[in-house]
Amino acid sequence: MFRMTSPSSTKTPFQSAVCIVGNGAIAKTAALGLAQAGHSVTLLVPPAPPAPAVAPDAPEAGWDARVYALNHTANTLLSSLKVWGALDATRVAAVDTMVVNGDGAQAGDLAFDAFGAHVGALAWIVEDRNLNQALDAALKFAPNVQLVSGRATGLDAHADGAVVHLEGGASIRSELVVGADGGQSWVRGQCDIGIDYRSYHQRAVVTNFSCEKPHHGAAFQWFTGAEGIVALLPLPGDRVSLVWSAPDPLADTIMAETMGELAVRLAVYADDKLGTLRPLQPEVVKDLPLALIRPHTIVAPRVALVGDAAHVVHPLAGHGMNLGFADVADLLKTIAAREEQRSIGDERVLARYARARKEDILLMQLATDGLARLFAANIEPVRIARNLGLNLLNKLPMLKRRLMSHAMGK
Ligand SMILES: Cc1cc2nc3c(=O)[nH]c(=O)nc-3n(C[C@H](O)[C@H](O)[C@H](O)COP(=O)(O)OP(=O)(O)OC[C@H]3O[C@@H](n4cnc5c(N)ncnc54)[C@H](O)[C@@H]3O)c2cc1C
Repeated sequence: MFRMTSPSSTKTPFQSAVCIVGNGAIAKTAALGLAQAGHSVTLLVPPAPPAPAVAPDAPEAGWDARVYALNHTANTLLSSLKVWGALDATRVAAVDTMVVNGDGAQAGDLAFDAFGAHVGALAWIVEDRNLNQALDAALKFAPNVQLVSGRATGLDAHADGAVVHLEGGASIRSELVVGADGGQSWVRGQCDIGIDYRSYHQRAVVTNFSCEKPHHGAAFQWFTGAEGIVALLPLPGDRVSLVWSAPDPLADTIMAETMGELAVRLAVYADDKLGTLRPLQPEVVKDLPLALIRPHTIVAPRVALVGDAAHVVHPLAGHGMNLGFADVADLLKTIAAREEQRSIGDERVLARYARARKEDILLMQLATDGLARLFAANIEPVRIARNLGLNLLNKLPMLKRRLMSHAMGK
């Protein structure tokens, strides 16, 4: 059963088969999956900042500005861990259609729908808070998970295991350390894993709106060229969630303006589809810097990286988290399929995990990076070519279906 421990209460090393570093959805999912497969897990989370008092009508009680389009891989994994069923279903929106619009005078477009793809939904839009609450609830009942809140100071890997040292002198011993600690991964740094880093010089502005016309489960995306990429994702009811990947100067301007002014900017793109947009909670708006991070490897002795620790991609395809769920699914599969005599942190097991993930990660990095660059170029011949490409793809059902299957994680 799940136990919460603080390192200050003990200097005896914590001991478990796996130590997972991280406190996001991917760390929690990995902890659940490994625990349900019979491995003891220590989940190392950073010390919590003091919780602010939240009035019932404060923004936190409203719609979360951080939402994810989760695909079928995520759905399958979370269902198998009994987490999908624990989501608040009244706050999950199924995506039935995706409409991608190009830019300029001859703007191309591309549309996908669930009916054409022979599925009930292309994806589901889930708030970060809803997802984390379901994961936290499932963790409470997970066998063999102990939650340790503390700050890691060092990581030693030996032939027979790894030790994570904590501030204050405590430590966690395990056969395998899973780094699920995000794009700035401390675990990755401890293993001296190099990265390729490139800023997109864009920030994603995220917030929510109510819409005058029903969205009918459609996700809209506009590749605007100079203004970046605007996506409006369906939320339950007549609500939509904005992810605007805006060049830095435009992001600065948007963040300095009122939400009413942002709605006016959006009307240029969305007015005919969604009617007037009204800010749901004007105070709930965030901007997040966007970069491509490619670690040179996702394994090291006794260490596996998952989620953003293993790859950070542009959110234009809404796939970073889905890629992380696929990491966890493949890690679970690789560990389950290992020879009986091998430890779960065995070098060969980890090499198999890295091989299993290589193609999927590379494809997503190339596709998202390629599209981000293609649609950022402000050169007329490139603009014409990309719009022709969108129109052409829209007329090639076989290719479109294959692309869609991959995006859905099927
Ligand atoms: C604007 C935007 C929109 C997106 N939309 C989508 C989408 O629609 N669909 C999709 O699939 N993906 C989407 N993504 C990508 C998605 O947000 C990330 O891929 C996902 O959040 C990564 O999850 P993670 O758990 O790996 O990392 P994080 O969410 O970054 O979590 C890392 C955790 O590790 C903890 N941590 C850090 N350091 C330490 C340490 N030393 N010790 C212990 N804990 C530590 C942090 O506190 C944090 O809780 C989007 C991204 C952006 C920016």
